[in-house]
Amino acid sequence: MKLIVALALISGLTATPVMAAPYTFIEGKVPKGVQPDGNSIVLEGPEELLVIDTGRHPAHTDQIIAVAKAKNKPITAIINTHWHLDHTTGNARIHAAYPGARLYASTAVEGALKGFLAKNIEQAKALLDDPSAPEERKTDARLYLEAINDPANLIPDQPVKGPMSIQLGARELRLHLAKYAATEGDVWIHDPANKTVFAGDLVVVPLPFFDTGCTEGWRQVLAEIDQLDFHTLVPGHGLPMDHAAFSSYRQAFDAFTACAESTAGTASCVAIWRQQGAAFAAMHPDPKYVDAALTYYVDQVLRVPAKRSEYCGK
Ligand SMILES: [Zn+2]
Repeated sequence: MKLIVALALISGLTATPVMAAPYTFIEGKVPKGVQPDGNSIVLEGPEELLVIDTGRHPAHTDQIIAVAKAKNKPITAIINTHWHLDHTTGNARIHAAYPGARLYASTAVEGALKGFLAKNIEQAKALLDDPSAPEERKTDARLYLEAINDPANLIPDQPVKGPMSIQLGARELRLHLAKYAATEGDVWIHDPANKTVFAGDLVVVPLPFFDTGCTEGWRQVLAEIDQLDFHTLVPGHGLPMDHAAFSSYRQAFDAFTACAESTAGTASCVAIWRQQGAAFAAMHPDPKYVDAALTYYVDQVLRVPAKRSEYCGK
């Protein structure tokens, strides 16, 4: 079991150790050749636990359940920051262990189940029928089909439709909804007493994932978060960072997306993230991956008018 308590913050190019974290951080892995897991966070109340995002692979979700077993407290609530399956597939496994866990999420998942998430069904079935397909990819295809065929574990019983609070003992968690940012509805969480923000995929290391993103709404919510008083921000992928590192992430995000919206060459936009987002890009072991992903997002997503209007709800 690899449980990683947040011991290090990304601060510019250096890591700063902190003594204790008011949460348990379970890092989502992005292994080669298989789909990623998003980060998960476990927050502890007097008699209960709350989980932010549940991962994709059973091995990831089982780390969350292991935390609950070790603390001997039930998981009573799950918050999904957004509907991407690397953050939500584990809901079913958590619910199986803790049937009383209430699900807080945006209702954007309902549209996604009919649209984006339904797009790869045939491809996944074909892969399962292909004797030459690697076993890990088949496992991912099975997990995907199981998740989308089980909407009860994805659709919230507590929809987040705007700002709301959850009380965890004396601790107040403030939930916010960003519309048309990384997805049509992103939930982000502010823990004011601990000066912590849980941002989901509004912040991703080594680079933002624009697969279902709308740059205008996304820039807006990053600006809103930057105004808050916080010390630590936990991203959807990658290690927690301090406020200064987040501000530099935001500046790099603004510059990169402004470039993608201009007529500048793709390579010059990629160079902007490589330079202004260098501290984050460097967190990926393969610079070629970073360049290829940024190039893909500029050419195949951000500059495709049909995708812009779909993901911006226009
Ligand atoms: Zn993710």
